[in-house]
Amino acid sequence: MKPRSLVTGGAGFLGSHLCEHLLKLGHQVIAMDNLLTGTISNIEHLQGEDFKFIKHDVTEYIYLAGPVNYVWHFASPASPLDYLQLPIHTLKVGALGTHKALGLAFEKKASFMLASTSEVYGDPLIHPQEEEYWGNVNPVGPRGVYDEAKRFGEALTMAYHRYKDMNTKIVRIFNTYGPRMRPNDGRAIPTFIPQALKNEPITIFGDGKQTRSFCYVDDLIEGICRLMFSDYHEPVNIGNPHEMTITEMAQLIIELSGSKSKLINKPLPVDDPKVRQPNISLAKKLLDWEPKVPVNEGIQRTIEWFQNVL
Ligand code: NAD
Repeated sequence: MKPRSLVTGGAGFLGSHLCEHLLKLGHQVIAMDNLLTGTISNIEHLQGEDFKFIKHDVTEYIYLAGPVNYVWHFASPASPLDYLQLPIHTLKVGALGTHKALGLAFEKKASFMLASTSEVYGDPLIHPQEEEYWGNVNPVGPRGVYDEAKRFGEALTMAYHRYKDMNTKIVRIFNTYGPRMRPNDGRAIPTFIPQALKNEPITIFGDGKQTRSFCYVDDLIEGICRLMFSDYHEPVNIGNPHEMTITEMAQLIIELSGSKSKLINKPLPVDDPKVRQPNISLAKKLLDWEPKVPVNEGIQRTIEWFQNVL
């Protein structure tokens, strides 16, 4: 019997790459998504006897016939633009959606993974961020809807692990990029690449000195699979520690795409973190995992994908 996986948010950027990878590992895969920020075009190439798509809002009761071995809970708006436009839905999917997905995993005796985020660290007061750090989040700021939903999701997941003896995992994902990101979803890389390809000005928020650490999607998927198949239950950072300023990333994209774009500055959004870099010592030790794709190569692959879709 093939293992059977349910991926919530399966039509999104990360969810679709995860579905693809699980099919390669020999799983039967069900992608469940309400297509709020995801799209069928991300998964239509996966159609086949081992893959099924179910359109469903996971904040509502989830029913699935038959066995399920793994539940990967990835449904949630993820870009600041999306969650600032969908604040109540973001809170609902992080809270009610996580509850429903955990409930299904409990009923099926499945392993469960919560896709959490580096945003649980907020605007961090320690650098790089390690799993023991509890974070510096403004609960009532505009970004609080996402950060607090994920923090609640982590607490709920640990409660199901401790009090219902479930096999749960929490991955804290740091900025990840690659093919299938939506142009103009507000995140830096899918905003910069189309601007560069059209030779339009590249819009940098603030002075561009804030840092991010970008992980290529293939590396992330490998890391989260190793975590799911491990027997560790506390949160684990998965991301690429290669830290760059936003301006350096924009310049790299201009260089690799041969663009004539210039940089322009726009006001910094409220509570935008100043620095972001994962400490991945735990993932290295526990999962023997570290990212392999250098930033130049990952950005090059992403530019090529955008060239084809734009
Ligand atoms: P995405 O927007 O591309 O994917 C999210 C998917 O969830 C979409 O397909 C959307 O339609 C679906 N969805 C939203 N609400 C739903 C609901 N109520 N019911 C069913 N489906 C619903 O975003 P992504 O970048 O692929 O992020 C996936 C997950 O990873 C999210 O949970 C996000 O918080 C987490 N994450 C991503 C990153 C990153 O850098 N991409 C970083 C940290 C955490």
